[in-house]
Amino acid sequence: MQDTMSTASQRRTFAIISHPDAGKTTLTEKLLLYGGAIHLAGSVKARKAQKHAVSDWMEIEKQRGISVTSSVLQFDYQGYRVNILDTPGHQDFSEDTYRTLMAADSAVMLIDVAKGVEEQTKKLFRVCKQRGIPIFTFVNKLDHFGRNPFDLMEEIEKTLGIRAYPMNWPVGVDGNYKGIYNRRQARVELFDKDSSHGQKMVASTAGSVDDPVFRQLLGEEIHQSLCDDIALLDMAGDQFDPEKVAHGELTPMFFGSAMTNFGVQPFLESFLELAPPPAPRISSAGPIRPDSADFSAFIFKIQANMNPAHRDRIVFMRICSGKFERGMTVYHVQSAKQVRLSQPQQFLAQDRTIVEEAFPGDIIGVFDPGMFGIGDTLCQVGRDFRFQGFPVFPPEQFARVQAKDTMKRKQFLKGMTQITQEGAVQVFRQPDMVESFIIGAVGSLQFDVLQYRLKQEYGVDILMNTLPYGVARWLEGENLNLKALKGLDNGMVVQDIKERPLILISNEWQLNWLRERNPGVEFQATPSDP
Ligand code: GDP
Repeated sequence: MQDTMSTASQRRTFAIISHPDAGKTTLTEKLLLYGGAIHLAGSVKARKAQKHAVSDWMEIEKQRGISVTSSVLQFDYQGYRVNILDTPGHQDFSEDTYRTLMAADSAVMLIDVAKGVEEQTKKLFRVCKQRGIPIFTFVNKLDHFGRNPFDLMEEIEKTLGIRAYPMNWPVGVDGNYKGIYNRRQARVELFDKDSSHGQKMVASTAGSVDDPVFRQLLGEEIHQSLCDDIALLDMAGDQFDPEKVAHGELTPMFFGSAMTNFGVQPFLESFLELAPPPAPRISSAGPIRPDSADFSAFIFKIQANMNPAHRDRIVFMRICSGKFERGMTVYHVQSAKQVRLSQPQQFLAQDRTIVEEAFPGDIIGVFDPGMFGIGDTLCQVGRDFRFQGFPVFPPEQFARVQAKDTMKRKQFLKGMTQITQEGAVQVFRQPDMVESFIIGAVGSLQFDVLQYRLKQEYGVDILMNTLPYGVARWLEGENLNLKALKGLDNGMVVQDIKERPLILISNEWQLNWLRERNPGVEFQATPSDP
């Protein structure tokens, strides 16, 4: 008999996207708590408080008290196996976060009720939207004063271009909230400040917001305001449409408070029911279905030096089909070689554990013999296909780097090659400059990581000068003539590692100016053949 936990359909693999301080760490921890992984509670926080934590592999993380790496948190809940892809919270590490989103089947967008949609959330949202994965919204900190929920809905719709369907609704007037009204179950749930559970359920007898029980409980003013809101939502709001949710066009919206546990469990249960199991993945051999018997996976993250005693690199892969078994030999498509996956590990909140078997939707880490790259495909021996490549995320910070000591040029090149293979930074060159590279990243802290690692691991000190650019655009178009580009006085032309030309410029304003002056040239945020 097959264990239910060994099927792809029971898996829910997702990431939480948010702006720093919205409460991601707190929510993650509460989800673990409800998932029965109680011994893990506190561990997510502890990581942030830079005690012993899985992600303290890199010294720099400890110094800064932030998480550079990401791992996966796994627990079972009511017949589901839940994989939360833990993404670095600090905004400087969004490139890694972007990649992690490639391995998720859905995303939970966490918003602070007082702050609404913030910058980092917008960026991460865009990546989810591009992938067309379902996005769920959790509006957090409802125990605090917050913004009007209609305003928040409008903001989500206007700034993110996705419709919102409130699954529950704040009860209260003028941002002073008492609890939530569960629309599906027609039930009011109030904060219970005295209880450690932080939650009290009040069932409606009539199953409607008009139920006199609610009026008595809430008082006339609050009850009337709730009735008006619900009437408006029912009349003018979107219908709940699972198809639209599945395509990322409608986001189920929940309100709650992670800190006081309020609304977390109902959210988890609704989410698990509505969130999709692993879906087929596009490959050069057509869609690869999760229930296909042949093993396949792709690599979405490479992490060096998790164990400072060894200079190891660990690659994280997401399993897409078949079954992974410890010690199995698979085919690495990019190198056309067979490789034995000997030390498979799963990274739970507290420790690494050796994995005996894993299934579609699961994430495992294996030691890299030095052959793997981001986006690579692994498949059953005898099969040969590639999963769709990863998009290039446009860098927004740039610097020129070179070895301080020219005698160390060789180590410098080796270090740059290996570290950029991991995808920590993107590397560009100016065609006439041989000693130095231009590096680009989504966040500038990645530069510090590069500098630190070149010194620690390769013994190379570098000179690094940040460059005053904020926008990169790949240049395309028929008969592209770089010499004839007009109006590029304040920009720089460089090449990426595939020798495709791009320009580095200050801002969008300058970009528009260039567009006007060079009508035959296409300025692409990412190269069209990744
Ligand atoms: P992260 O940066 O997104 O991981 O955010 P944290 O989980 O560390 O939370 C940031 C701050 O918000 C912390 O001080 C939390 O205690 C606080 N916080 C998280 N959830 C809530 C909530 O539901 N209500 C209130 N009032 N504070 C919260």
